[in-house]
Amino acid sequence: MRKKTILVIEDNELNRKLVKALLQRGAYNILEAADAERGIDLAQEHKPDLILMDIQLPGMDGLSATRIIKEDLALKETPVVALTSYAMEGDVEKAKKAGCTGYISKPINTRNFLDSINIYFQEDQETKSVVRTGAVQEPDSDC
Ligand code: MN
Repeated sequence: MRKKTILVIEDNELNRKLVKALLQRGAYNILEAADAERGIDLAQEHKPDLILMDIQLPGMDGLSATRIIKEDLALKETPVVALTSYAMEGDVEKAKKAGCTGYISKPINTRNFLDSINIYFQEDQETKSVVRTGAVQEPDSDC
């Protein structure tokens, strides 16, 4: 199976290193950006399978970056998971409005971080198996 690629957009170097170390345990390919502009460029160039988006970034913030990514037809189905410093309800609402699929709050919980990422790919597989079942059933209706 092809290794999934995750783009991490996070300005804090320690957080970026931590996220990278945790994702590597899950055998993901990782792309990194320290600001929104670079992150958007990498997203458009590499079409990652998932984007981890820090909300508080220098210059353009993560919410604006998410809106731009979601306007891109090639990326609009890509899950964007917000990294929020304080998972207050208002922040989560704003992240969802901007197009984020979910959120992970910081400080990152190293024990369940990988599970919170893996879940996006499990859902993906379920969707695909449903599609496959549908395709298998089609010839029957012709009989
Ligand atoms: Mn930040």
